[in-house]
Amino acid sequence: LRSKLPHVGTTIFTVMSQMAKDHNAINLSQGFPGFDSDPKLLELVAKYTREGFNQYAPMSGVPALQDVLSAKTARCHDYEPDPETEISIVSGATEAIFCAITAVVKPGDEVLILEPAYDSYEPAILLSGGIPIHIPLKKGDFSIDWERVISSVTFKTKAIVINTPHNPSGYVWSSSDLDHLAQLIRDRNIFVISDEVYEHITFDERKHLSLIGHEELREKSFVCGSFGKTFHVTGWKVGFCIAPPELMEEFRKIHQFVTFSTVTPIQHALAEYLKTPSNYESVSEFYQKKRDFFCQGLKTTGLEFSPAQGSFFQMASYGHLSDISDKELAERMTKELKVACIPVSAFYHNGQDHKFIRFCFAKEDSELQEALGRLEGLK
Ligand code: PMP
Ligand code: GLN
Repeated sequence: LRSKLPHVGTTIFTVMSQMAKDHNAINLSQGFPGFDSDPKLLELVAKYTREGFNQYAPMSGVPALQDVLSAKTARCHDYEPDPETEISIVSGATEAIFCAITAVVKPGDEVLILEPAYDSYEPAILLSGGIPIHIPLKKGDFSIDWERVISSVTFKTKAIVINTPHNPSGYVWSSSDLDHLAQLIRDRNIFVISDEVYEHITFDERKHLSLIGHEELREKSFVCGSFGKTFHVTGWKVGFCIAPPELMEEFRKIHQFVTFSTVTPIQHALAEYLKTPSNYESVSEFYQKKRDFFCQGLKTTGLEFSPAQGSFFQMASYGHLSDISDKELAERMTKELKVACIPVSAFYHNGQDHKFIRFCFAKEDSELQEALGRLEGLK
């Protein structure tokens, strides 16, 4: 068999989680919470399972969940998408991103990716015969170098994949970023795949600005989200896509042959749970405490960092301490200090090593405390 993805191996998240397990290390690598969801939400899933909501959901989602997501979107971003034609519930943001990319990219099309980038974008582009064009984010704060983005556009550019709040840097888009993007795609046939899975995790009074809230942008965007991040249930793999009807029609043509539909009782449970805004509005505050706690401890480890603006990740640099590669450092930290992290070179298509590592701080404070104590060994 000739591989369709010859340069792709097993994802770094699987590799590092396995290494953490093998060496009995605290796992701050792959991003998943170390605590459970609200018992009320868990009980709702049990209730809908018991009540017999266990057969296929409608292809585009359970209407009650589409409705409540539409109302929530109106509340958060001042635009009420039509639940029937503009919202689909799918099996995680990964599926949403894959279907959106597959819907727009044809062989030879160029797709802009801002690096470091989450690892699922590029393989999806390649499988559709697209050509990923990698644009580095600015050194320092990982903001967007709009001049470079603009100069990378050609007549072949078909789409741009963006991510705010950003994994791994935590950078949160400003309204000026949105305006730059609008200007970029104005009068051009360029679509946007917007990965907003950390929409409810922003810090220091920053507000997540969804592309849905921007009139010009939403007309050409697939906004992808995930309930896994917001409600500490990454294993459920329930996400969504919001897009204008003509884009959503194409998106659904793909979705119906990738998974067809998404887990039924959980959709009903989420529909009920999302009716209470405090259930999602409290998430930023919850994680800000964790970020502050983790960053406070990180100060005495010798690592350098600026506190994340959003997401549940904290990046840190170590170049002033050591010359070893980030992969080697991550491996040694896992085996010797017993703390696993992600080497950020995995977020670059050519494995560029800028001597950054990423920690997931979505863990109990006691676990973070223990990890921070072990990281003192870096000095
Ligand atoms: N995008 C980003 C930036 C992520 O960090 C993740 C985390 N898994 C995903 C997409 C995928 O989300 P899901 O688990 O809902 O597929
Ligand atoms: N999004 C998670 C992270 O960045 C990982 C998800 C996965 O393992 N596919 O760590």
